[in-house]
Amino acid sequence: MEPMINVMQPALGEQELAAVREVFESNWIGRGARTQQFESAFARHIGVDADHVTTTNSCTEATFIAMELLEIGPGDEVVLPTPSFVGAGNAIASRGAVPVFCDVDEATLNPRVSDIEAVLTERTKAVLILHYGGYPGEVKQIAQLCRDRGIHLIEDAAVAIASTVDGQSCGTFGDIGVWSFDHGKIVVTVDGGMLCVRDPELAARAPKIAYLGMEQRSGYDQAMRAQTRWWDFDVTSFSRRSTTNDVLAAIGNVQLSRLGDFIARRREVAEAYDAGLSDVAGLRVPPPLPAGHTSSYYMYWLQFEGGIRDQVARDLYELGVYTTFRYPLLHQVPAYGSSAVLPNAEAAAAKTLLLPMHQSLSDSDVDRVISAVRECTGRRIRVARAA
Ligand SMILES: *Cc1c(COP(=O)(O)O)cnc(C)c1O
Repeated sequence: MEPMINVMQPALGEQELAAVREVFESNWIGRGARTQQFESAFARHIGVDADHVTTTNSCTEATFIAMELLEIGPGDEVVLPTPSFVGAGNAIASRGAVPVFCDVDEATLNPRVSDIEAVLTERTKAVLILHYGGYPGEVKQIAQLCRDRGIHLIEDAAVAIASTVDGQSCGTFGDIGVWSFDHGKIVVTVDGGMLCVRDPELAARAPKIAYLGMEQRSGYDQAMRAQTRWWDFDVTSFSRRSTTNDVLAAIGNVQLSRLGDFIARRREVAEAYDAGLSDVAGLRVPPPLPAGHTSSYYMYWLQFEGGIRDQVARDLYELGVYTTFRYPLLHQVPAYGSSAVLPNAEAAAAKTLLLPMHQSLSDSDVDRVISAVRECTGRRIRVARAA
């Protein structure tokens, strides 16, 4: 059998290894110059000042920090699309706030303005959207809605690292944006995240929350002049330690420099899938991007008519093509205690399948995926229609 084609996969190589070696040899592996360099490069990439960004050890952690910065608390409602990452739901629930799940567009799995409006109440304190598969969705209009209503907007841009609307980066439309560099994302630092905070005062608090809430009383020089101790400190919040280190940041610097190439390849793969699959009966490819939108092409999804999705997924696995579905609907996870009925999301979750999508796919991998999907879909559709 041919080797399994992964659904997602990091692209780490010699350049990243060389960068790690350099950090080892420098003897400074903790948070330092490389982390600062990573923050500056990332800030430049998304078009903001470096003062507004803070690296964290994961995107989930960045989301928890966002909740703390915006003082989300007991009784507050935070609206999020039901196909969201579980960490977003946990960040809300852990504050004693209520996650309120909204529906999405069936074809894009992104929430529309109307989906969010439908669940707003006077207790809504924030909206937390993500950009499904790297597609921006109605982020601009949702940001406007939140401004009009005096509600915070948090963007989970974990998979939208190169997504833009009219030239503006996803993650910068709302009050706070968060990104992920975990093992399954596009830019990978093994584990890691980034937080971008629009308000300058809150942005200045973010790194303190990310590092034990510590407030250095004075720097070394100041302490020497004042003849006090430079190791004294106070805490401004009872925080955890959510920082990263220079080993991971060095990997991130290399990965960020390769991002353009990564996205270009992902786009080629998406276009090849579109060309190879859009004519298959009973199968829907992702809708075209609206004018002015760019995608990170993090996910490529198909939607199957006739209830054959699970069967096709198993058939593809037998042929060495690994697939999956993200994100299982949170309103159906018992712990969140939701009784919502969200028909579009439920329909989408029953028929959507993610194909292999990463920058290391070869042309022959892509051809193999296309012919496997054509074969399995055709067979299962015929059986379903005959029944
Ligand atoms: C992966 C992912 C996250 C979580 O990122 P971590 O860095 O693993 O915490 C959050 N949101 C979305 C949409 C993701 O895909």
